[in-house]
Amino acid sequence: MSAIVGIDLGTTNSAVGVMVDGKPVLISSSVGVYLTESVVGVDESGEILVGSAAKEHQVLNPNQCAACFKRQMGTDWSVEVGKHRFSAVQLSSFILKSLKADAEAYLKTEVDRAVITVPAYFNNQQRQATIEAGKLAGFKVERIVNEPTAAALAYGVHETDAEKTIAVFDLGGGTFDISIVDFFEGAVEVRASAGEAILGGEDFTRSLARSILSQRSIMFEHAETKSPMMVARLIQQCEKAKRALSKNESTEILLPDAEGRLNADGEKFTVDRKMLLESCKPLLERIGIPVRRAMGDAKIKQQDLNQVILVGGATRMPLIYGMANEFLGKCPTGKINPDEVVALGATIQAGLINDDAGLEDMVVVDVAPFTLGVEISKELGQETRSGYFLPIINRNTVIPTSRSHSLVTISPNQVDVALNVYQGEGRMVKDNLLLGELKVKGVPRGPAGQEIEVRFTYDSNGVLEVETTIVETQQKKRMVITKHAGHLSQKELQSSLTAMEQVKTHPREKNANRFMVKRAERLFQELPTMLRNQLDVYLDVFEAALDSQDPNEIASVRSQLETFLSVHDPDDDDADDRVAR
Ligand code: AMP
Repeated sequence: MSAIVGIDLGTTNSAVGVMVDGKPVLISSSVGVYLTESVVGVDESGEILVGSAAKEHQVLNPNQCAACFKRQMGTDWSVEVGKHRFSAVQLSSFILKSLKADAEAYLKTEVDRAVITVPAYFNNQQRQATIEAGKLAGFKVERIVNEPTAAALAYGVHETDAEKTIAVFDLGGGTFDISIVDFFEGAVEVRASAGEAILGGEDFTRSLARSILSQRSIMFEHAETKSPMMVARLIQQCEKAKRALSKNESTEILLPDAEGRLNADGEKFTVDRKMLLESCKPLLERIGIPVRRAMGDAKIKQQDLNQVILVGGATRMPLIYGMANEFLGKCPTGKINPDEVVALGATIQAGLINDDAGLEDMVVVDVAPFTLGVEISKELGQETRSGYFLPIINRNTVIPTSRSHSLVTISPNQVDVALNVYQGEGRMVKDNLLLGELKVKGVPRGPAGQEIEVRFTYDSNGVLEVETTIVETQQKKRMVITKHAGHLSQKELQSSLTAMEQVKTHPREKNANRFMVKRAERLFQELPTMLRNQLDVYLDVFEAALDSQDPNEIASVRSQLETFLSVHDPDDDDADDRVAR
């Protein structure tokens, strides 16, 4: 049977793995790292760049690149990238295609089946959009798995005999999820999940940038419109500072000038942990809310937890570590790299679907992280008031699940009913998210009170199907809730596939060289004149070697350039964690 790959499609980074000899193994990208930055760019020749090359390209060309688009999944957002306009689904599909190419290069065979992870708190639209991105990239998406569940699976696979309750605290680049998970007798059972779909490490970086600008009486939003280059550069510097502060008490960054240029002799700014904490206080407060909700839903107290594991790059921040400790009453532990654990779990899930011989049988039980229901009207005295939410599947119900509820018409001779489907915890639908609308027609004429049975079926991918039955006539109507902004019909999917085939992607085998040029070009701007001149020579020679297409020549010149870069543009302190081993 062909392999199924496991994919963590992250806001900031993505990764792909496959089962090898009964163990999940991550696959390195064309530039030799496990994590592919979730950035897409278009270079001067109109070719699509993905990952590290795109991330470097972004620093000098923010308008030709897109990042953080996972946050826009399931919406009708689109962005101009160079001469193209792409939706979040299309951008995600470029990342998935790149991971597919890495897996195919590693396995030396075509790979067309995948398990893809999503934040537990992703709604129906966002899950559907992820499945569509998978299809556009040429995958059959075998399963959508919640990120914290995948992380628990990566831990649980070694501990099939252990009985314990753990908290998975997952703060990635764009989302926060907390899950309370039981391990027992080869089962991984999620008791409760809660989270925020728009709260992650990127917000911490932006808060820091906002705070630096406000110290100079500049409004972030204003600067973003007026000098996007400057803001993009400042964010890049803040990202560096944020990572450095995970190791050191304070650090220094270079402030870009109004055009977004960095100059080694330019203005410097010292950032310390206290400033990061102050600028991020509102974000930290938001983290507390889902944590309390998940603990309450799981009916668990701090002392009942046996372990807290951290998932997602942003949990490397000491302030987040401290926060997890404070909220959950336990020092987080865990041996697996927080950036890689989700992809490893997705790979194990792929192995379970594929009946991988090396895996002991494991049962994975997940829950619906939010309540699903419909809008109803209520008769209050003489008055009928609409806009109330009737839950049909309550949050943290074990999935897959199917639940039904009887509704009745409110007016005499009412032949149509508009059934609005919502997700959320609000008592009124205005506080919840509209997922779709189902028109029920053909209700028999008669007095009010004609019965309609509504059945919700929520599958293990977190996708909802709604079925209505007019009780008297037994007439049924079904709808899979796929209707969402940006949703592609089969025909649209096909034409999008054709259109995407026209877009030229930079060849995988040339990615590493492209990345090096982009990195060198970015560094060029930051160096003092003397070093700039040196780098200029290295770049000229490297580009000439690339033109010559002589592999030996390229390799020798490349290593000189590599040495220069490693001295003058050292990676982050934690870069070792991201290098493929
Ligand atoms: P993920 O989506 O799990 O790859 O997490 C990406 C997020 O983790 C980004 O917002 C990064 O800025 C953040 N991150 C990665 N490494 C560190 C670090 N050493 N210190 C602070 N934040 C980090």
